[in-house]
Amino acid sequence: MNLNTLKQISELKKAKKAVILAHNYQIPEIQDIADFVGDSLGLARKALEVEAEIIIFCGVHFMAETASILCPNKKILLPDLDAGCSLADSINVSQLKEWKLKNPGAVVVSYVNTTAEIKAESDYCFTSSNAVKIVESIDKEKKILFLPDMFLGAYVQKKTKRKIEIWPGECHVHAAMTYEEIKNLRDEYDNNEVLIHPECACGSEAMYYSEKNNDKNVHFLSTEAMMNKAKDSTSENIIVATETGVIHKMQKASPDKNFIPINTSATCKYMKMITVEKVLESLKTEGPEVKVSREIAIKAKTAIDRMVETG
Ligand code: SF4
Repeated sequence: MNLNTLKQISELKKAKKAVILAHNYQIPEIQDIADFVGDSLGLARKALEVEAEIIIFCGVHFMAETASILCPNKKILLPDLDAGCSLADSINVSQLKEWKLKNPGAVVVSYVNTTAEIKAESDYCFTSSNAVKIVESIDKEKKILFLPDMFLGAYVQKKTKRKIEIWPGECHVHAAMTYEEIKNLRDEYDNNEVLIHPECACGSEAMYYSEKNNDKNVHFLSTEAMMNKAKDSTSENIIVATETGVIHKMQKASPDKNFIPINTSATCKYMKMITVEKVLESLKTEGPEVKVSREIAIKAKTAIDRMVETG
């Protein structure tokens, strides 16, 4: 990393009362300069909590929007506005309105990986760490429209033993992960443990076999829970089924363990758009800013507050 760039970032951060928040999927250089690294829920909570005038949000667009809704008085900067999300793009607001019309009275629960407009049409927002809890908290008589990730939906349906209507969306990174890849790696590495994000396409099969074989070394976890599990695990080899960016933080916390991504090409091109140079540019120009309109923000806030309040 260029030392002069780092020095400028540090000086500008201080002068402008700015903090850098980074998602676990960011490139290692960004994670290393961030004041806080976490998952969507952790970052949303941190954005609320930090005393700062400017937040440099190193993540993707919907995350910066969530921070803007939660912190209308802070300037939220996303160093590259093209950092989007294929999962968030898998449903638009007209499709959701049509779905709602066909299901009057249904409760809409939306993943945090959605646009602010979708959140404004939702009753609850959730992350992978509290999806099960949120669905369980909803009146059993109510129909639930769950969006937009079908793999996470299938996982929640199984965990809650509750029939839910699931939107057929997916994240291109997690959808490409197969059970075959896990199986091959487990055959190759002894003394292993497997951490699987419920957004992964391999989830249903992995769950079926782990339950069938009473296998205690396969865990379905949110990104943050994966971090904790990786730290506490006594296994030598840890197979990780999610975006490869998480391995940087895991390896830093447990340098003696061997972390193996189920597929080295499981990277999110959107997350990797943020670079140290773009962070510096954002600090210099105080842009590009992500600002959600007041009308949408007010409507979306109830659903987001429910997500932040649910542990
Ligand atoms: S990894 Fe998938 S869900 Fe996450 S930001 Fe990238 S495209 Fe969206």
